[in-house]
Amino acid sequence: MRRVSIFGATGSIGQNTVRLIEQDKDAFDVVAVSGGKNIKKLADIAKSLDAKVAVTSEDNLRDDLKSLLKGTNISVYAGRSELIDAASQTVDWAMSAVVGFAGLEISLALAQNSKTLALANKESLVCGGALLKNTCHQHGCTLLPVDSEHSAIFQALNGEDIKSVERILLTASGGPFLNASRDEMARVTPDQAADHPNWSMGKRISIDSASMFNKAMEIIETKELFDFSSDLIEVVVHPQSIIHSMVGFNDGAIMAQMGPPDMCGAIGYALYWPKRQNAGVERLDFSQLSQLDFQPADTTRFPAISIAHEVMAKGGLAGAVFNAAKEQSLDLFLEGKIGFLQMADLVAKTVKSLSSFDDQSADKMDKIIKADTWAREHVKELTGYQK
Ligand code: NAD
Ligand code: MG
Repeated sequence: MRRVSIFGATGSIGQNTVRLIEQDKDAFDVVAVSGGKNIKKLADIAKSLDAKVAVTSEDNLRDDLKSLLKGTNISVYAGRSELIDAASQTVDWAMSAVVGFAGLEISLALAQNSKTLALANKESLVCGGALLKNTCHQHGCTLLPVDSEHSAIFQALNGEDIKSVERILLTASGGPFLNASRDEMARVTPDQAADHPNWSMGKRISIDSASMFNKAMEIIETKELFDFSSDLIEVVVHPQSIIHSMVGFNDGAIMAQMGPPDMCGAIGYALYWPKRQNAGVERLDFSQLSQLDFQPADTTRFPAISIAHEVMAKGGLAGAVFNAAKEQSLDLFLEGKIGFLQMADLVAKTVKSLSSFDDQSADKMDKIIKADTWAREHVKELTGYQK
């Protein structure tokens, strides 16, 4: 039996992971499952998987979680430091699926204590790519991508010589505003932005998809995961989300990985790698699939793509600053304090202002946290929404 843990178990990726493990219960021994405020869901997951530990990030919910798990042998942990303790338990496989910057420290703890780290939390690579990769290397942990595009690239590279790669074609659905004008985009609400046409995901990543900040994060994630030069990475808008990404080689051949837009494909691949196993994903029916469309990304309406290239050119702490500015701007948008298009303006300005750090390298957690805090404050100063 493989010992596994799921961080962010109550979220969209987390629940899909739980479902896959429930389908194949005898193969797994579940160590820890984590969640946030939704402790009812967390308790149900912990019971259904017979986990050893259930951990909520919310310290004040410890007693409530304890009462929900009364009569079971499941240990209750609560609060940030116990969340990290739970992530420090030795396992064969761990899923890092907390959303946002909060996931980096969890990924680092998991990388030190897991044989395989399945990484959904892209913020870990954007903010602390070098640190996470070094930690994996030092502790002999295999890092596997869960993001569908990166799983596709990983699969397309199977058995290939990385030196023969000529281009990476990162596909993007284009989100709900693919054909909207800038004027229309200026007026959209958070609910409209969260309404993704193809994928069912958490609210934050759905809105990031609508602004293409998600794709911007994924460009940086691609560079960090596979060590490709940034100029090899192109974004191709493909509204059907059937091709999850492609790799072009120096003989002109292109390998594309295809499947329905269901994250269980990428999660299942990371769960059973290097083998393949049926994760119950729907099969593509080519008699129904009449066409696949492609178009270039419009960087005027979606400036996030250009900002990603600026971030990669700067390197070091720019990724952490970029992500924090994006997270802070998204909070302001969700609170109704700024418009949809203002998010990109604020992120661009914050990334441009990144010059106040003498040491720009992102090799230590305290430096990354400092850059994150600075960027959040900078966005608030720009908008006048200081604490
Ligand atoms: P979600 O919002 O549905 O779930 C987030 C999870 O993180 C929940 O379990 C929540 O309780 C937990 N959480 C939130 N804040 C926390 C904090 N401060 N400390 C500890 N735990 C906290 O998010 P999601 O859509 O499942 O995305 C998770 C991660 O996976 C993100 O980094 C996202 O970018 C990435 N990802 C998601 C998808 C998808 O299809 N949903 C696809 C690719 C990558
Ligand atoms: Mg993705």
